Amino acid sequence: NPVVAIVGRPNVGKSTVFNRIAGERISIVEDVPGVTRDRIYAHSEWLGQKFSLIDTGGIDTGEEEFLTQITEQAEIAIDEADVIVFVVSVREGVTDADEKVAKILYRSDKPVVVAVNKVDNPELRSEIFDFYALGFGEPVPISSTHGIGIGDLLDQVCRSFPNTGAEIEDHTTRFSLIGRPNVGKSSLVNAILGENRVIVSSVEGTTRDAIDTPFISANGDEFTVIDTAGIRKKGKVYENTEKYAVLRALRAIDRSDVVLVVLNAEEGIREQDKKVAGYAHEAGRGIIILVNKWDTVKKTNHTMQEFEELIRQEFQYLSYAPIIFVSARTKQRLDQLPQLIKRINENHQRRIPSAVLNDVVMDAIARNPTPTDNGKRLRIYYTTQVAIKPPTFVVFVNDPELMHFSYARFLENQIREAFDFTGTPLHLIERKRK
Ligand code: GDP
Repeated sequence: NPVVAIVGRPNVGKSTVFNRIAGERISIVEDVPGVTRDRIYAHSEWLGQKFSLIDTGGIDTGEEEFLTQITEQAEIAIDEADVIVFVVSVREGVTDADEKVAKILYRSDKPVVVAVNKVDNPELRSEIFDFYALGFGEPVPISSTHGIGIGDLLDQVCRSFPNTGAEIEDHTTRFSLIGRPNVGKSSLVNAILGENRVIVSSVEGTTRDAIDTPFISANGDEFTVIDTAGIRKKGKVYENTEKYAVLRALRAIDRSDVVLVVLNAEEGIREQDKKVAGYAHEAGRGIIILVNKWDTVKKTNHTMQEFEELIRQEFQYLSYAPIIFVSARTKQRLDQLPQLIKRINENHQRRIPSAVLNDVVMDAIARNPTPTDNGKRLRIYYTTQVAIKPPTFVVFVNDPELMHFSYARFLENQIREAFDFTGTPLHLIERKRK
């Protein structure tokens, strides 16, 4: 998906613009306990065009004075976005701070759309022409609090997306490693790349693509490891801030087929690990849990089993994710990783023909009858897979209210037993048959 970043000096209304565009269209699977997402990143859609949205104003880059702050926020936008929405305010006109932001944006070759906010009534529209002086073409008048002009703004934004034609078909499996600092993500990336044949890309990528590293595994399969915050410490000030780290992790997850959630065996499971894992789960990606630094753990016969039980207990919503105990230092089991990633990627995009699927569901119903409520029985007419990545099934029923959580889980388990869906979440949607 293309990425849109919102920049502008304080008080122009960036967050309101962000919320207007993000609307209520926040991910449908945000029911993971313990995930309190900072709202600086959202998915949105305009006339069928999907995109991701970043509010750079929500990223506090430190104790800096505000001019330094907005400079850094503009740089984040340039680093991360395909299109930049530069928010200014009709009330104050063009300010010094606006000009400073404009200068930074001007140096990048990213398309910029100027949104003149707080144009709450039509009389103010004539005053937006001053903003031509910023040098980014025709400014778009909006009122984010009243919801005026947002459609025009989004039209303009979508027109500026880099050629939105068909995505390049390639055979690479994209994966990223996420986890809190010091779990060993960069050590693992280096160890993985050290064990496999890295392909030197002949094409100079954009800033963002340049940190993706393609390699070929021993089996001849192609993979691309996507960098996340801190993996190649680039040394910009804002890269050490937590919100920026979260943003980079979310961006990496978005671009991955499979996400490796890295835990540190030496330190056990922390609250932050659950938050990080929650992001990957919410995004509906394939997931593998890597327990790193396994070399540091004193082992008895049961150590691995106990650790596994602890993970299952702490990450109940990730029951589908395989767990692998590794060491970046001794390279233990890293040779198994490419094949496992490949398998999870295949599962994540597995399609089951309706006939086979319905056989499995009908067998399941025969063995465990559907629930009843007040004498009314749930009837399942037909099940069909409507999407992949993650596999999504629609179950046509007489009354969706009758589908209890436990019965839906039973059906999901039956589907998982019949087909290999290890490592991928499954979505089951109940629909009333018309
Ligand atoms: P990141 O912040 O998640 O990228 O973590 P790093 O890769 O920078 O690793 C943090 C520290 O853990 C470094 O001192 C590494 O040398 C160490 N480390 C990483 N992986 C292992 C491992 O498998 N075993 C041991 N003993 N130390 C490790």
